Amino acid sequence: SRRMLVVGNWKMNGLRTQLGDVEAIGAFAADHPTVEVGLCLPATLIGAAADKAGGAFIGAQDCHAKTSGAHTGCLSAAMLKEAGASCVIVGHSERRTDQHESSADVAAKALAAKAEGLQVILCLGESLETRDAGEALPFVLGQLADSLPAGAGADWLSIAYEPIWAIGTGRIPTMEQIAEMHGGIRGKLAELAGPEVAAGMRVLYGGSVNADNAAEIFALEDVDGGLVGGASLTAAKFGPVIAAA
Ligand code: 13P
Repeated sequence: SRRMLVVGNWKMNGLRTQLGDVEAIGAFAADHPTVEVGLCLPATLIGAAADKAGGAFIGAQDCHAKTSGAHTGCLSAAMLKEAGASCVIVGHSERRTDQHESSADVAAKALAAKAEGLQVILCLGESLETRDAGEALPFVLGQLADSLPAGAGADWLSIAYEPIWAIGTGRIPTMEQIAEMHGGIRGKLAELAGPEVAAGMRVLYGGSVNADNAAEIFALEDVDGGLVGGASLTAAKFGPVIAAA
């Protein structure tokens, strides 16, 4: 009963010359209405993309936890919404690393986005070192406990499990590893937010998803879609991933 959700994260890619790809992906999404499709774009493209997005929604990749103020270079949830975003990613591993965002920061950003009525995709994921130490599951469940905002609801929040070592590497976990992690996340959600929220919340997989592996990953019981980087940049690559959901 959970609707599949497939979201592209363009990261720091995309100039106006790529708006044709946004349009083509939006048209593809309109032809696949059983799947909810989104594109989280650089903020500079959100305004121009919003009225070209067809059947896809447009999102952002981060927001500030505060509503306004002296925060040079940052964007509030209200600014992103006004530009045309209906969703925002928080807690991506690249921001946890590059911008030193803590799980408490991530939870605060999620609440700021919720206050503006934005959908939120909250990212979790372990490093290769943690995976190799056999500690991936407890690490990610701890990250979930520390990052999950108060009042988390399936109607506005989704989780994305993205093992850091699978991002942009072409290397993915085994199906057993993905199934174990997603089942663990759903169990922890039940503990933290109640069984009803856990049953309804989408848990996406991210990390080297592409046309060749998407169908197998999306068929797993507790995988409710994907967060896709490189393979979301063109309609030719992203279309088959959407169609696999
Ligand atoms: P890739 O699909 O390029 O591995 O990126 C995954 C990701 O980080 C999406 O947020």
